[in-house]
Amino acid sequence: SKEDVQAFLKKNAFVLFTVGAVIVGIVLGFALRPYKMTFREVKYFSFPGELLMRMLQMLVLPLLISSLITGNTHSSLDSKASGKMGMRAVIYYMTTTFIAVFIGILVVLVIHPGKGSKEEFGKQQTIEQVSPADAFLDLIRNMFPPNLVQACTQQFKTKYGKRVVHVTVTVNDTFFNSTNGTQEVMEITREERIPVPGQVNGVNALGLVVFSMCFGLIIGNMKEQGQLLRDFFDSLNEAIMRLVAIIMWYAPIGILFLIAGKIVEMDDLTQMGGQLGMYTITVIIGLSIHAFVILPTLYFAITRQNPFVFIAGLLQALVTALGTSSSSATLPVTFKCLEENNKIDKRITRFILPVGATINMDGTALYEALAAIFIAQVNNMEMNFGQIITISITATAASIGAAGIPQAGLVTMVIVLTSVGLPTDDITLIIAVDWFLDRLRTTTNVLGDSIGAGIVEFLSRHELRSKDVEMGNSVLEE
Ligand code: ASP
Repeated sequence: SKEDVQAFLKKNAFVLFTVGAVIVGIVLGFALRPYKMTFREVKYFSFPGELLMRMLQMLVLPLLISSLITGNTHSSLDSKASGKMGMRAVIYYMTTTFIAVFIGILVVLVIHPGKGSKEEFGKQQTIEQVSPADAFLDLIRNMFPPNLVQACTQQFKTKYGKRVVHVTVTVNDTFFNSTNGTQEVMEITREERIPVPGQVNGVNALGLVVFSMCFGLIIGNMKEQGQLLRDFFDSLNEAIMRLVAIIMWYAPIGILFLIAGKIVEMDDLTQMGGQLGMYTITVIIGLSIHAFVILPTLYFAITRQNPFVFIAGLLQALVTALGTSSSSATLPVTFKCLEENNKIDKRITRFILPVGATINMDGTALYEALAAIFIAQVNNMEMNFGQIITISITATAASIGAAGIPQAGLVTMVIVLTSVGLPTDDITLIIAVDWFLDRLRTTTNVLGDSIGAGIVEFLSRHELRSKDVEMGNSVLEE
């Protein structure tokens, strides 16, 4: 009946808007492609998308800090229960990341997209060599930012110790010549600095995660003296989540323009017939196996609940990941989806989501291992068993070190390649498709974090429940 339809529309408004935004974005993007917009016009066109990105990034810092601090004070759980929960999260992260790496290696070995020649690829640029040891030390360095204020504002600074990694890209840009009012096309070379692992758009997320967890644990132990701080961060967290709720209404519009803008500006896919096309398909297959088979199976095996109902609740977060290609920027939306649609306990989400978004990246791990072996195949080098093991380990480390920002995985791949003696310059072979594959691996990353929250909540249900009983909270029936 009419009421039913209305009720349905009201209940699923967000989902409908979101799905609609993706579809309209794709259609609009392809419809506008023939008009060959200039670089600047594309920038104007995707402005609403840029705004969404900025709004989400604006919230990441206070959200990350306040949720981790409140999540770690024992006002919510006692230290033994938090410890157990943390262990479960770590085991989940490790297991799923290794499975992801394994799948990446398996699909690239079976499909074998690399055909031992580089001719069909565009010209290559030089990328600096990075020693895996330095990169590893940098990962640890980032955990302890010497200056907390700087950790919140740092621009792409120290990389791998003192070295700076950058990729130089050439872009065609149209400039409006203001002196004679004509438009002219000229080629400029723009040096693009690619951000450091562990730093999110000027934020050293890893360092802030470590600090906030420790800080939360401390103020949790401070009895009355800590009450002021506990209340403060609790209330800050609540306030930020309310801001998130407002931005959620704008999100579909932003996503529409982010997607459309990217489709308008993407290069013609002329190379896609060859190895790069096969490579893209291989990555899609690998990520799909992980996202649609492995993770749901794991969720079902542990919780005995329908994983696809769970995933449906995450739709908006997944689409935001697809639109922004940043798991950090998506974090506010992930929180909302998990807490509101999937009813995950706030004690769980606050405790583990920020950590997950920073270090748990299944999609990135899968991608890095797969890409390294693809580059070996293109170079006609067969990897032996030992080298494949090395790739699995460094790909895992690289995914932990990669920041949750666009294309961070491409940077940390230098480590993986160096560890087995593959030419790092060959990263530029796959740059052409990275903007696209990045979106898919980011979506997989966010899915992995969210399913992790669901699984950890299920495994921790007894602790959560007994705490509820102790606190006299109303206890939901299991
Ligand atoms: N963009 C990814 C993320 O934010 C990281 C990557 O480049 O793999 O999760």
